[in-house]
Amino acid sequence: MRVLVVEDEPLIADGIQVILKQEGYAVDVMANGLHAFDALMSETFDLMILDIGLPGLSGFELLSKLRKSTGFNKETPVLILTARDAIDDRILGLDQGADDYMVKPFDIYELIARVRALLRRSKGRANNVIQYDEIEVDPASHHVTYKQQPVKLRPREFAVLVTLLENQGKVVSKNKLEESIYAWNNEVESNALEVHIHHLRKKLFSSLIKTIRGVGYIVP
Ligand code: CA
Repeated sequence: MRVLVVEDEPLIADGIQVILKQEGYAVDVMANGLHAFDALMSETFDLMILDIGLPGLSGFELLSKLRKSTGFNKETPVLILTARDAIDDRILGLDQGADDYMVKPFDIYELIARVRALLRRSKGRANNVIQYDEIEVDPASHHVTYKQQPVKLRPREFAVLVTLLENQGKVVSKNKLEESIYAWNNEVESNALEVHIHHLRKKLFSSLIKTIRGVGYIVP
């Protein structure tokens, strides 16, 4: 899941970025509305967090420009960040096509919860939790449980697990698994695929993933 954060206050932008990355999202940060518009025209994001007061284009201007453009997927959820007293901003933002808002200063965990909810809604995955054995995986929220206990997976481990579970009963090649990692997380981690598989077996259970030597892996 890729999130674009458009925010010109470095402290806020960094705070959001750090916590989203911890939650396993791939995050891009931009501080200028115009640059954000260009990025949104050329790349695909699953969600945008948008400040209103921005250089280049304001959040409102950006929203209205996006609405008129054809290169933007209008299903992409947008969460706007507004100033404490600016009630008009919230209304205007929602009118301009934002899906939700947070008022500064906000609780970062509430922000994450809203991000999850927006993604769940937009992906239509409200009931689409992947179940296997006693494992439950929510692709939208990145929550994983085993025997109803939460399991903390690193982003790449999560990506590998989802790909294997979505292809249950089929051998998934190493190449395909590696691609899934890049689609889900653009941070460079040096760990090889084998290490992620090893961690998944340890954190879940060892017979979950079988190695098909020279070919790939399978969740039987
Ligand atoms: Ca600002």
